[in-house]
Amino acid sequence: MQKKVILKKGKEESLQRFHPWIFSGAIVSIEGNPEEGDVVDVVTSQDQWLAVGHIQVGSIAVRILSFTRKTIDQTFWEERLSRAYDVRRTLGVTSSATHNIYRLIHGEGDGLPGLVIDIYGRTAVVQAHSVGMHRSREIISRTLIDVMHGEIESVYYKSETTLPFKAQVERAGGYIIGGPVEGDTLLEYGMKMPVDWINGQKTGLFIDQRENRALLERMSQGRTVLNMFCYTGGFSIAALRGGARLVHSVDSSARAIELTRQGVAVNFPDDTRHEAFAEDAFRYLDSMEPIYDLVVLDPPAFAKHKDALKRALLGYRRLNEKAFLKIRPGGIIFTFSCSQVVSKEQFRTSVFTAAAIAGRSVRILYQLHQPADHPVSIFHPEGEYLKGLVLYVE
Ligand code: SAH
Repeated sequence: MQKKVILKKGKEESLQRFHPWIFSGAIVSIEGNPEEGDVVDVVTSQDQWLAVGHIQVGSIAVRILSFTRKTIDQTFWEERLSRAYDVRRTLGVTSSATHNIYRLIHGEGDGLPGLVIDIYGRTAVVQAHSVGMHRSREIISRTLIDVMHGEIESVYYKSETTLPFKAQVERAGGYIIGGPVEGDTLLEYGMKMPVDWINGQKTGLFIDQRENRALLERMSQGRTVLNMFCYTGGFSIAALRGGARLVHSVDSSARAIELTRQGVAVNFPDDTRHEAFAEDAFRYLDSMEPIYDLVVLDPPAFAKHKDALKRALLGYRRLNEKAFLKIRPGGIIFTFSCSQVVSKEQFRTSVFTAAAIAGRSVRILYQLHQPADHPVSIFHPEGEYLKGLVLYVE
């Protein structure tokens, strides 16, 4: 029997607008007894065909793979992966002598809900956020090697923490194809980046801050920089290359501080301008001397769900207020939120409130977002998550 999901009357509307998720509440019945991760057809209450996708347990019940009739086979994966690769070539972020780190697949933004693929030199790191993608990991990895014409040789699978929490699957990470690539230097616009995809956060690096790091580099000359929530120290390396007078990196994770020190040392051996501290952000900001005139605030997502929104907004306000109180006149703040549930406007209001409470006069110089290799499907505005402001503080 054909595996299919039948929608309640009227619930096809969001699909007709190409939104790629079906919530469990929109479903009237399921036929053919699909297992989690199976490919299913989605039909209207009148049995009209709408789309095909991966079924899963949870509030998002189906993630759509195609709105036209398609078999989800080798040809499908080839098409989607090569289209995404073509986009990255157009963007000029694929591998060259000075740059070889970028996102190849950004879930819904690349028509593949539940899948992330990041490229680190000759290794691809594949991450599944759905059981459907988890079960397709082998064919995805094999197709990837073909589609990228020799640019990569290894595929590492890292989904221990990203698969739905209730999914009945084995959560081992490891190489699906190849192994560690000897002598592969990982470069972001010429900067050597420390990346640990085996134990690190995300796939090993916050690639999404690449263009913002490049902007910071251009504004760092002669400044005293605080890189708060530094993780692997990307902003610190950029500031040092940009000619900063001094750079202090802070993160509560000792491992992050270790990676930051390694990253700085490999780019700037014997440079005495940098120091790194394993400390809590709020504590550091409270007790620090007011010596900085460029501050980066890139905290982890304060709200992962809508319920946490109010507290998250308060968190952004408090964090930014502390920076406004201490930054030197003529200082620059790069402030970010990567919480998907916090809108651009809400974030801006929190920062605005913080500036008002601190009594500083503030100009917005730039409004930042995720880079183009993290595209947003026009039909899936939820894909927009990273927002930032570059502020000039009088
Ligand atoms: N700016 C980084 C990414 C930051 S990710 C980059 O460009 O790569 C967020 C970081 O915040 C993580 O490394 C996490 O360890 C750190 N963190 C979380 N809570 C913290 C806290 N209370 N104080 C300091 N750092 C914290």
